[in-house]
Amino acid sequence: MSDIQYEAVIGLETHVQIKTRSKMFTSVAHKFAEPPNTLTDAVVWALPGVLPVLNYEAIRKTIELGLMLGCEIPEITKWDRKNYFYPDSPKNYQLSQYDQPLCLGGNVEIELAGANPSEMGEHRYVKLTRIHLEEDVGKLTHFTHDSLVDYNRAGTPLMEIVSEPDMHSSDEVFAYLTSLKNTISSAGISDCDMEKGQMRCDVNVSVRVKGAKEFGVKVEMKNINSTSNVRNCIDYEIRRQIDCLKKGIPIVQETRRYDAQLGVTQSMRSKEDAHDYRYFPDPDLMPVKISQELLDSIRAKLIELPFDRQRRYMNDYSLPYSAVSVMCPDLALCEYFEEGLKEYSKNPKMLANLIVNDLMRELSLAEDAEKSEDVFEESDNVIHVSTAEKLAKCKMTAKNLASLVRIVDGGSISKQMAKEVFVKMFTTGESADDIVEKSGMKQNSDSGELEKFCLEAMAGNQKAIDQYKAGNDKAINALIGPVMKASKGKANPAMVLEILKKLIG
Ligand code: ADP
Ligand code: MG
Repeated sequence: MSDIQYEAVIGLETHVQIKTRSKMFTSVAHKFAEPPNTLTDAVVWALPGVLPVLNYEAIRKTIELGLMLGCEIPEITKWDRKNYFYPDSPKNYQLSQYDQPLCLGGNVEIELAGANPSEMGEHRYVKLTRIHLEEDVGKLTHFTHDSLVDYNRAGTPLMEIVSEPDMHSSDEVFAYLTSLKNTISSAGISDCDMEKGQMRCDVNVSVRVKGAKEFGVKVEMKNINSTSNVRNCIDYEIRRQIDCLKKGIPIVQETRRYDAQLGVTQSMRSKEDAHDYRYFPDPDLMPVKISQELLDSIRAKLIELPFDRQRRYMNDYSLPYSAVSVMCPDLALCEYFEEGLKEYSKNPKMLANLIVNDLMRELSLAEDAEKSEDVFEESDNVIHVSTAEKLAKCKMTAKNLASLVRIVDGGSISKQMAKEVFVKMFTTGESADDIVEKSGMKQNSDSGELEKFCLEAMAGNQKAIDQYKAGNDKAINALIGPVMKASKGKANPAMVLEILKKLIG
């Protein structure tokens, strides 16, 4: 009895706000953090007689994601009314898509964490059921005796990405959300910032005896708004359900809420009081025909998927996983890298390492400095700045960084000095050549002078020479140090090694 193995089955319904200028069915602006109820009009308020007008850009962007994820795009799509009565929607229904969504099927490639951060983990595909396009609802804030409503968010374009019950652990769900976020944000469809509510998900969890064909009864947890809450909620719920099954308590189909403070899920409503939404086609919106021309024009501009780019960088440029795993999720970093390659393409590895180590470090230091100057900003109001925005402010151009790589490859400065030059380039925006020229950092490649330093070093350490001659190759390193010191760090290490070998014979 006690050695029965259980398996979790998880499916996600992920809502993503689409970056458009206007709302889904009206021309009112779609923005974040505006004063309450300022982004509204007669359509948002659902005043009598208003008619919805479809947002073409939102349709286009949803199809774009569908094509990236290998979905089928049916020729005809339509919008339906999902009826319910609640103050977050003045219309008493939400415009959504029921049986004819924009995208069907498809899949999301995920990467599970490797054995350690420098190793690539296992890849697999999570199947999708559909992606449909609907409108978001208003936001309610509850107090002890009353509630406030803000309709700024009401009617903003929202896509819902529905996965098959095809995941089995919180780690897979985390990898799935990460991959979706990287794909969607690289394409500029949404920033997917969970803290701003741009990405939220409903998590469905069931448990079954390992190897069983039938799914277990599912429990749904709605509107979870951070990846750590998603992870904790799933882990808790899997444990709870297995515990129930072990004790012989049947799982009931229900909606539960996740209490992040207590770290537990609590029952909200059971299947018996589930809504009957009485879906029906919206009589004010005609079904939409998706033309071949539209599909072709979207397909022509599709971006490369982050994991495809990762494979390409590893194959074509022999970049290490540690570099591509930082760079590829972020299109802005990849564009910076490729811009640099246009200037100097002979050492992609060094360019990539400078970007993921030095540039990332300096960008985040610069951001921290900016934040601490802004003393009036409350800490929980601090808004995440994207790499694209940080790079836009960065004084060091990609071309300039690439010329630093060229200078190091040419032997004028050492890799160690390159780090110093990098920091100067980052803070001043001056070119690598100018900084190296001005600061007198140029490596000493004067063979006559280096030979003199080498002879001095050899005179001071006969033991190292004997050991080297006896076959201990590493012993020669003991001679390089004094030469570097005598040259004030400017000796070209490769040349020093060559000269020493020649002199020892
Ligand atoms: P509903 O009819 O309750 O909306 P759906 O079949 O439409 O349920 O599925 C909604 C979500 O729940 C989907 O993401 C799906 O993958 C997931 N799901 C369905 N059945 C299960 C299950 N037994 N265990 C876990 N997730 C499930
Ligand atoms: Mg459903």
